[in-house]
Parts: sequence; structure tokens; C-alpha cells
Amino acid sequence: PARTRFAPSPTGFMHLGSLRTCLYNYLLAKSTKGQFILRIEDTDRKRLVPKAENNILQTLKWAGLEIDEGPYYQSQRKHIYHEYVNKLLESGHAYRCFCSSDRLDKLTASAKKLKPDSSGSYDRKCSHLDSETSFKRALNEPFVIRFKLDSYPSFTDALHGNVHRELQTNMNDIRYDDFVIIKSDGMPTYHFANVVDDMLMCITHVIRGEEWIASTPKHIALYNAFNAKSPTFVHIPLLASEDGRKLSKRSNDEGVLSLSGEPNYYEPEAVVNFLALQGWSPTRSNKSGYSDSDVMLLKDLETKFSLHGLTKGLIKLDFNKLRYLNRAHFDILKQYNLDRVICQCHKAWPHSTLAECERMFTILSSRIHDVNDYIHYMNSIFAKPEYKNRFDEGSPSFNALKEISGQISSFKSVEDFVEYVRTTYGPKGQQYLRYAILDNRSGVPVLEAAKILGMDRVIERVKKAVE
Ligand code: GLU
Repeated sequence: PARTRFAPSPTGFMHLGSLRTCLYNYLLAKSTKGQFILRIEDTDRKRLVPKAENNILQTLKWAGLEIDEGPYYQSQRKHIYHEYVNKLLESGHAYRCFCSSDRLDKLTASAKKLKPDSSGSYDRKCSHLDSETSFKRALNEPFVIRFKLDSYPSFTDALHGNVHRELQTNMNDIRYDDFVIIKSDGMPTYHFANVVDDMLMCITHVIRGEEWIASTPKHIALYNAFNAKSPTFVHIPLLASEDGRKLSKRSNDEGVLSLSGEPNYYEPEAVVNFLALQGWSPTRSNKSGYSDSDVMLLKDLETKFSLHGLTKGLIKLDFNKLRYLNRAHFDILKQYNLDRVICQCHKAWPHSTLAECERMFTILSSRIHDVNDYIHYMNSIFAKPEYKNRFDEGSPSFNALKEISGQISSFKSVEDFVEYVRTTYGPKGQQYLRYAILDNRSGVPVLEAAKILGMDRVIERVKKAVE
């Protein structure tokens, strides 16, 4: 059984990429009968976005991804990180650094001059302080704690194989990548809190975006320093928009939840199904086109998911596929959760009564495959007729409709009325009805439209047509 986690930083709303990462971790846990944990990585207090955490919780709920443990909050676990950093200070894997930011800036600038892509920029000045001096200075000077990184350990990624990163040092100008693990405010950095938590929470697999692959050697070095086994890492390709550009947090700032509203009204089942297939497939075959076998509910995905089906390489989001899946899931929902569909449609088009919305689904259900279909049909049926192409007064059509309008009150049901007009006037009768009831709009069957509108509205319309 895998123990996985989703570890978002609440620095923005949950977007498609983060929901996919979350989903894969969830699916790996479920498919192996393991546990899925939620951990909010909120130690970077300056970058917190107030509504982000709530948005993360809401998005998971909307998508139907239930957590087995958590949410844990890193901001509430400061004491744990301090306990663990002390172990590293004692074992010599970490040291306090008292260098001013001025000095550090200069070091970085000179390192960049030598090597523009240099990341290592500290010269280890403070690593030479003896522990007593270091301890005393810590009582009244600000400091950070750095991890002593002698080399980048290589590691095996489940998707990328062996990953190796060289530590770039230069004999004449030795700089190290002794990264900060505790900041001057006492808060742990992402690298440190992330590793300590994964270790203590017994995480077995970390599935995360490729942007973290360069940080992973640092994480492995930390596991080694703690003599702990590192989890299996799986770095998944980033998502790109259809034109091949990377989806940045900024380009879909509003987050996944906004997809459930105007103008797309995507069902969560469709979004989940869609995201599952962006970098994973159940069969591993590279078939193109969309088919019924692509349509999967969360419970299907929970049994089918495995790491073997993951793919490498940039993923271009194909929103036509999302639309296809959305229609398929909408049809499934109509069968087993019609109430939800009705509620949703009524909310999206609030100009009718709930009863009329229900009638629409009893009568025209087979034509509605998403919320936009519903809105389209409701608009066609309910829009107030304007009768711009009126029948000429005195013409046979006008007279016939006048006659019909005179008799309409004697009919109890819409069915009887329509049936009467059709049998009495033949195909012409059908034309009169389409004109009177639907203002000649096509695409909606007249009898069905009349039933949805109800007798009162039909009477009103027919009378008005010949006023
Ligand atoms: N807090 C990190 C993020 O926001 C977690 C990365 C990871 O999964 O290690 O993406």
C-alpha cells in the first residue's frame, strides 16, 4: 500500500496542474489500498494568499477526492522542524550562518559573473565556527541554518530513470550549494519542512510536477543525513495549453472551480476524468481520437490507476476532449443523479420555475447533453414571441389561427389541443402552432415545447398571435 500526500502551498487558487498532481497521488493511494494525506505547506508566510487554503479544500471536495489524513499545517509544526534541525546541527550536517544579506548578495553577484547559471553561492565561511561560538552568537545575532551539501546524490525517478546532477564547483572560486533549511524568522524552508514531514508521515511515493526535479537531489541529501529511506519520486510532465505554452499559475488564476460555472459548466466528474488522462492512460496504447473507453468515473480510475501508465513529455491540454467527456458524464449523471443535474441547470438558467426545469428533463431529456444544451432549449422555448412576420389580417392563415384561438379555452390539456389542431388543419395546423407558440423558431418540437410551457402560457401565446 502506498502512502501519498498532496502538499500544496496556499499561494494561489488550485489550477488544473495542481489538481492533476493531487489526483495522481490520490489514485495511487486508492489503487494500492493505501492512504492519501493532505498537508498544507504554509511556512512561507509572505506569499500566503488568504483565500487559497479554502479554495484548495473546496476544490478537493468538488472533485470528490476524500483525504484519509489531514489536513496537516506546517505552520503548526515548527517545534518538530526545530527538533530535527538540532539533530543535523549535532551530527555536523548543518550549521548556523551569521552572514549579512549584503555579504551574501556580493557572493551571489561574483558567482554569477563567473558562471551565469551558478546556483551555489555560499563560501562556507560560517561552517568553520566552532559549536560553542556558534551557539553563543546565536543568542543575540540573527542567523539562518544551512545544510552542508557536499554533492548532489543521484536518484532514480520512477518515470525518468536515473537522474544525476553535477555540483558545479571551480577550484579557484569554491562556492557551495549549502542551502538554507531554517530562515532567520525560525521558519523552515520548503526543502526542509517537506522532507521532515514526508519522513515522519511515512510517505512512500511522491508524485509531483517536473519543476521539482532539480530540488530532489537536495531532498535525497537530507534523507541521507537522517539515515532515512527516501520515498519513490515520480516527476510528471507539466501541462501546456493547446498552443504549447506552459500553463502558469497566472494564466489560470481563477482556478479549477471556475470551470464549473459560466461559460463551460463542466461537471467535476468530467474534469477529473480529463485530468487523469493528461499524462496517464490505462492501456498504454497511443490511440488517438476519443472513445467510450475513455469515459471513467473516479471509482473506475481508482482501480485502473498504476504508475506504469504514466507518460513523459509535455502534455498539451485538448479542451475538445474535455467537452466530449463532459457530455458523456452529463448523460451518466442524468441517469443516476438527475436531481443534481436539475439543480445545476436551474441555477444556470434561473428564468423558469423548478417545475418547468423538471418538465424539461422529463420531456426533452434525450436532447440535453450539457448545461449549455439546456440553456439553449430553454431560451428557444421561453423567449417571449415577438411575431415579427405576422400573418396578414384577413388571410386564410390568419383566419384559421383566429378560429383556433377562439376554441383553445375548451381544451383541458396541451396534448388534446395540439392533437385537435393537427387533425383538423393537417400540416398547415402544425405551421400555425409553431408560429403561435414558438414564434417560428426551429429546432424544438412543438408538442414538447407546448407541454413544457404548460396550458396557460400556450393559451396566452396563441391569443396574442392573432391579437
Ligand atoms: N509545496 C510544494 C508545492 O506547492 C510541494 C511540492 C512537493 O510536492 O514536494 O508544489
